[in-house]
Amino acid sequence: MIIFKKTADLQEYISTQRTSGRTIGFVPTMGALHAGHMSLIGAGRKNNDLIVCSIFVNPTQFNDKSDYEKYPITISEDIAMLTDAGCDVLFLPDVEEIYPGGTSNAAAFDLGYLDTVLEGAQRPGHFRGVGQVVSLLLKAVQPQFLYMGQKDYQQCMVVKKLLSLMNIQDQVKLVVCPTQREADGLAMSSRNRRLTEPQRNIAGCIYQCLVSIESKQSSAKFAIVMKECNDLLTSKGFEPEYISLANADDLTLMEDYQQGTPMVALIAARLGSVRLIDNLVLQQ
Ligand code: AMP
Repeated sequence: MIIFKKTADLQEYISTQRTSGRTIGFVPTMGALHAGHMSLIGAGRKNNDLIVCSIFVNPTQFNDKSDYEKYPITISEDIAMLTDAGCDVLFLPDVEEIYPGGTSNAAAFDLGYLDTVLEGAQRPGHFRGVGQVVSLLLKAVQPQFLYMGQKDYQQCMVVKKLLSLMNIQDQVKLVVCPTQREADGLAMSSRNRRLTEPQRNIAGCIYQCLVSIESKQSSAKFAIVMKECNDLLTSKGFEPEYISLANADDLTLMEDYQQGTPMVALIAARLGSVRLIDNLVLQQ
């Protein structure tokens, strides 16, 4: 695996690869890699000649300074995992390389409604930062395929919108890959490393709630199921931020189940100082 720290060096390499007709798949990450990230690398390898992964903990998408400061960094383990998984290129820039002249100069995109609900509402400025960094990374890597995880459902929708705002929706195809889970259903996440053992033992409750929201869709009102989930999570020591049902195509919030409408259930909850999110597209 070749490691580039400078955008210019990466771009020079990419342009020789593109000239020789190789297809490029891109997996952007913030590192502290786990099997969820590896599933994206695996999906990319099936369809591309070259896989590029980036590791960059993007300061502009953290609305909470201590979350940024505590974000796990495990570079040498990450490099070993990427090498084993057959990743070809790792882009490992520092903040100055991505934001020369400071973070406030980076262009921002108007993400509209998506930036006002759920994660957008709970984490002001988060998606603006995601838009900034993904647009800069896409310009550097110029992939034909971009691999992202359904674990960050709203982020996938934001990036889809970003591709049209950048007018590159015909050049770059977004591939959304299924959420990888631990045996108890907990969605894999770099932040799980920060859970204490007792917290880790109950963290699977979020997934249990999502499954109960799905299984009760024909027998109960969503408001009732939401309250049950809220009570369960609270009794275990979580602080739920939202337990929501939305149209899976456009993320319009829904007060109740509506058969025939594609639906996604989404949960964000804090466990101690760790904020966890997860979602489930309801099978009808
Ligand atoms: P992150 O490093 O958390 O920014 O994530 C990088 C990419 O990996 C994003 O597209 C995430 O949605 C994806 N990802 C994170 N966790 C998982 C998971 N458990 N399953 C599948 N993809 C994931």
